[in-house]
Amino acid sequence: MDCLFCRIAAKEISAAVRYEDDRVLAFDDIHPQSPTHVLVIPKRHVAALHEVDDDALAGALVWAVRAIVADAGIAQTGYRVVTNAGEHGGQEVAHLHLHILGGRQLGAMG
Ligand code: AMP
Ligand code: ZN
Repeated sequence: MDCLFCRIAAKEISAAVRYEDDRVLAFDDIHPQSPTHVLVIPKRHVAALHEVDDDALAGALVWAVRAIVADAGIAQTGYRVVTNAGEHGGQEVAHLHLHILGGRQLGAMG
């Protein structure tokens, strides 16, 4: 399977890494929608959020968000975490990723 985010996790494709631990990698979105726009991914291939079947990975994703928003200085001003899943969700890359958006006033969700 040729998966873009697996290749980023394997460091075969470069990215601006913001956070890394044993299970999770986070890097800047290449087309940022806000001053902070970081993608948090599991290092192993998981297609979407409903495929997470591992407490340790679920926890690691949340701990990564905690670290990233603190580091980016947006914990107090606020931020949004979004994950798109499947066709109706508009998921373009079929490897789970949490979008962390912040650094500006965000509009209503549509
Ligand atoms: P989604 O529509 O939720 O699947 O979002 C996919 C996201 O991946 C988009 O926001 C893209 O800008 C982003 N993206 C695509 N290719 C790369 C890349 N090579 N490095 C960083 N972000 C990427
Ligand atoms: Zn993958």
